[in-house]
Amino acid sequence: MSTQLLSPNLLHHAEYPAPPLAERVWVGLKRHALSLMLDTREVYTFDPVGRLWIAFIEGVNYKRGLDGRMVCKWFTPDGMRRLHRLTGEEADSILRWAHQMATQALELFPAESDPACKEALQRACAWDVAAHHRDAERFLQVYKPVSILPPDQYLALVLQVTEGCHWNRCTFCDFYRDRRFAVKTPQQLREHIARVQEYFGETLRLRNRIFLADANALVAPQRMLVPLLEVVRATFAIEPEDLEPEELPRWREEHPVRFQGIYSFVDAFTGYRKSVAEWRELRQLGVRRVYIGVETGCEDLLRFLRKPQTGDEVVQTVQTLKEAGIAVGIILLLGAGGDRYARAHVEETVALLRRLPWSAGDILYFSELVEPFAGEYTQLAREAGIQPLSPEQMLAQRREMEAALNLPPGVQRATYDIREFVY
Ligand code: SF4
Repeated sequence: MSTQLLSPNLLHHAEYPAPPLAERVWVGLKRHALSLMLDTREVYTFDPVGRLWIAFIEGVNYKRGLDGRMVCKWFTPDGMRRLHRLTGEEADSILRWAHQMATQALELFPAESDPACKEALQRACAWDVAAHHRDAERFLQVYKPVSILPPDQYLALVLQVTEGCHWNRCTFCDFYRDRRFAVKTPQQLREHIARVQEYFGETLRLRNRIFLADANALVAPQRMLVPLLEVVRATFAIEPEDLEPEELPRWREEHPVRFQGIYSFVDAFTGYRKSVAEWRELRQLGVRRVYIGVETGCEDLLRFLRKPQTGDEVVQTVQTLKEAGIAVGIILLLGAGGDRYARAHVEETVALLRRLPWSAGDILYFSELVEPFAGEYTQLAREAGIQPLSPEQMLAQRREMEAALNLPPGVQRATYDIREFVY
């Protein structure tokens, strides 16, 4: 069984019989995590200090966020993906169970097995339910809730250089309704970073990129943004792109805490105002990819969604980003406008996407409209007599758009499911 988890990143491992807990227990220690496997039915992954991170229990995958929220995913026998956000009580029962399994695995750990695995198990055993609760409270003293990240950024180190959304009025989005928009000063950012570093401690090594939050951090004027990025650069090592392949291992060894680049959201209705020279300046400071909530190419639908952007602004934003050497992540909102806009949404979105200068490194995300999280949208749609699309109809929208596009090699297409996000 252990070969399933063997990988080049595996530093230590131990395998032993442990009835009645399991016929075989396997403990694997990697640079970033400890895995505990009980036969093939349960796997627990703990971060380097011992917090529960991921669990797989009898066919269900659980993921815990640092703020204590937990989601789980599974597939039904007919292959349908299901997702559930756990209540506090449900999350506690998973934490309790994981702690119990780790404690029993430690009690049965053979004296002659790898001591590094034993120490890692001891660290995990120090994290009972109460310790997880205390840690979540500590996290929420450092961060305003991290509302959402693009799926390829789930392992990023979030820095809240701004708070909230400067627009905050799109009907389908209530991610930032709880806070006013504000841009941190360099001094405030330094203080935030110091608290972030203290909170993460050695688990900073787990984070591979830097994500500037909140909603559209790059909306800040260049004269405010550049000093903020300089603060980030003065604190964190970003992997240089111009190193020769033989120089890279040494650079990495010298920078155990390092990041592949800086990433952020921007909205097209302000992003288009930045010049190529301004984006280039951000590129030189480490910005590698920028995510844009395009939602749809249908401008009537955008008005219904109360998102104040035009297709031309999207095209101009992407063009200037590309000229500056920055990749894009484009996010579409499947099902937006329900049956009323379904045809126009597909056709006009395809027409807009065809105008964009796609290149390798870009990502096209498909995000289903999720009505329980959809702010005022549901009420307005109901008043307008709009019928929501079913998951199958939204999938059909995606398939139709993908079939009509001819994206160049190296452009990824992916699902962006806001329900599964925890940080
Ligand atoms: S969709 Fe973006 S621009 Fe609109 S309210 Fe939400 S975060 Fe702000």
